[in-house]
Amino acid sequence: PLILAIESSCDETAAAVVRGGTDVLSNVVSSQIESHKRFGGVVPEVASRHHVERITYVIDDALTEAGVRIDEIDAIAVTEGPGLVGALLVGVSAAKALAFAHGKPLLGVHHIAGHIYANRLEQELRFPLVCLIASGGHTELIYMPEDGVYEVIGETRDDAAGEAYDKVARTLKLPYPGGPRIDQLAQTGQDTFHFPRIWLEKESYDFSFSGLKSSVINAVHNAEQRGEVIIPEDLAASFQASVVEVLVTKAIRAVKEKGGKQLLIAGGVAANRGLRAGLTEACSREGIELVIPPMHLCGDNAAMIGAAAIHPYRAGRQSTLAMNAEPGLDLK
Ligand code: ATP
Ligand code: MG
Ligand code: FE
Repeated sequence: PLILAIESSCDETAAAVVRGGTDVLSNVVSSQIESHKRFGGVVPEVASRHHVERITYVIDDALTEAGVRIDEIDAIAVTEGPGLVGALLVGVSAAKALAFAHGKPLLGVHHIAGHIYANRLEQELRFPLVCLIASGGHTELIYMPEDGVYEVIGETRDDAAGEAYDKVARTLKLPYPGGPRIDQLAQTGQDTFHFPRIWLEKESYDFSFSGLKSSVINAVHNAEQRGEVIIPEDLAASFQASVVEVLVTKAIRAVKEKGGKQLLIAGGVAANRGLRAGLTEACSREGIELVIPPMHLCGDNAAMIGAAAIHPYRAGRQSTLAMNAEPGLDLK
């Protein structure tokens, strides 16, 4: 089937045409980063307005690039949640309008399911598997016994990994979004600060990043008070070393204990070079098959929503026109 997918949960307006859940015919992403930069983060009202202005063009572009007419589409998929309610509503309203006007089935997709299934656009998935989600709003370990079934076995108790990256970047006065900047600085730095690794209880798959974030902020403030100079590359490398060590160690333990055939990573932080390198090294040492999405599918996009939509489509799990944007939607 040909699926037209729409994503507008945060600050990218995106549409894609995906065939059979694996074949990307087009993947259009209109980013709003420039508009949010001067505020140092995503402003929900600004995001909604941009989505409204861009959505019809982005959908048209996705169809044109794919060389497909709307009447040839078999279903319309859209991110139903979680995300910013005003942002989600724009995509959901557009999808409902198209589904109604053209008599097409409507499929509501969970944003994190989208991040996970971005991996299927590159590689075949083998279940059971474990997926490490590391994004702007989520840090989770998810066990998937089979296609379309999600068991959250661990999650962050405070900040998400991407959120911690963005806050540390702000402390270093780097522009939004800070994750990629920290990653860049870390490439040439050394782990000289030895920040704590937050493991929580021995058997827990949960995460916590707020203590680490505070340690970084304190290090910067203490240096300022003493009039010392901090080497930003070393601070970034030290912060990243702590994040990566905890994410990699817990993910590997989860795969072993749950008997996963593959380890997947997903979400914006999956683009992090330190994390990709750390997981690649650990998985090859442990004989675990690692599945990593290509860089352009780590951040928010609609191709991943089209990939995730194939399971509810085949299972006949359609949404109705009563579907609403769900900012706190659970993954199930
Ligand atoms: P969610 O997916 O949880 O709803 P979101 O959609 O806002 O949240 P994503 O778009 O998946 O989040 O990811 C964005 C996050 O990824 C930001 O916090 C950004 O700083 C971070 N990020 C992007 N690239 C990198 C990188 N190379 N290193 C670290 N963090 C990164
Ligand atoms: Mg974004
Ligand atoms: Fe996301």
